Amino acid sequence: MRHFQRFLFVILLPALLAAEPKPAGRNNVLFQVSTIDALALGLFQGALDYGDLKHQGDFGLGTFEGLDGEMIALDGRFFQARPDGSVRRVDGKATTPFAAVTHFAAEVKLPVAQPASMAQITAQLDQVLSRNLFYAIKIHGRFASILNRSVSKQSPPYPPLATVIAGQTLFPDRNVTGTLVGFRSPALAKGLQPVGYHFHFIADDEKSGGHALDFEIAGGTVEIGVIRQHSTYAPLTPEFLNAPFPLP
Ligand SMILES: [Zn+2]
Repeated sequence: MRHFQRFLFVILLPALLAAEPKPAGRNNVLFQVSTIDALALGLFQGALDYGDLKHQGDFGLGTFEGLDGEMIALDGRFFQARPDGSVRRVDGKATTPFAAVTHFAAEVKLPVAQPASMAQITAQLDQVLSRNLFYAIKIHGRFASILNRSVSKQSPPYPPLATVIAGQTLFPDRNVTGTLVGFRSPALAKGLQPVGYHFHFIADDEKSGGHALDFEIAGGTVEIGVIRQHSTYAPLTPEFLNAPFPLP
C-alpha cells in the first residue's frame, strides 16, 4: 500500500493541472469502437476493421465480429484468443464490434514487490486513481495463477452478451509470465465502457490469453497512462441507430 500512496501525487497531478491545457498528442487517447451497452444487447456486427483500428492504438482490448474470441493488443501486436485455447495474430481484414485502444505511454511505473491478488491490486489502485478519469493500465509479471476466459463465435440473430458469457470457456493457468492490458473506466462512462477494471491477458510466449477474470501476481510492474481524451466510433448499423440506449 505504501508503494502506491507514495505515487498518489504523481498520478493525480494531471487532473490538478487541468486548468493548464496542453495538446495531448496521440499518446493515451482512448479510442473505442461502439459501446459496452451495444455489446450487451448482442450487437456483434463488425463495425471497423483491424487495419483501421491499428492506426488508433497499439494497446488495448476488444473482440471480433460475432464475438469470435477475445482481443489483446500489446506493443502494436494484435492477438485473438479463441475458446479452443489457441492464440493467433489478428488479420487486418478481421472486424470488431467492440474494442478500446490507445497509444500507451506510461506516466507512472510501480513495482509489485509482494504477491498480490487481483482484488488487492485493484483496491490499491482505487486508493490513488481519480474516480472520474479513464486510465490505461499495463501489468507485466509472473502470475502464480490466472483465470482467463474466451467466448464462442455467434451467428445472427445474435443473443445478448450475458447468454454468450454463460457459455464461456475458462482457462486456468499457473506460473505464467505475461501482460495484463486494460483500462479502468469511471462511473461517468456507464454505458460506454464497463465501469471499473477490464483486463485482457497475453502470455509472453503468446500461447495463452483471454479476458482475465482473476489472478494472483507473484511480482512485476504496474504501468499507468492517464487518459485525457476519449472518442467513440459509432457503428452506422440499423441495430445501433435504433437501439434503446441508455440501458437501465
Ligand atoms: Zn474483456
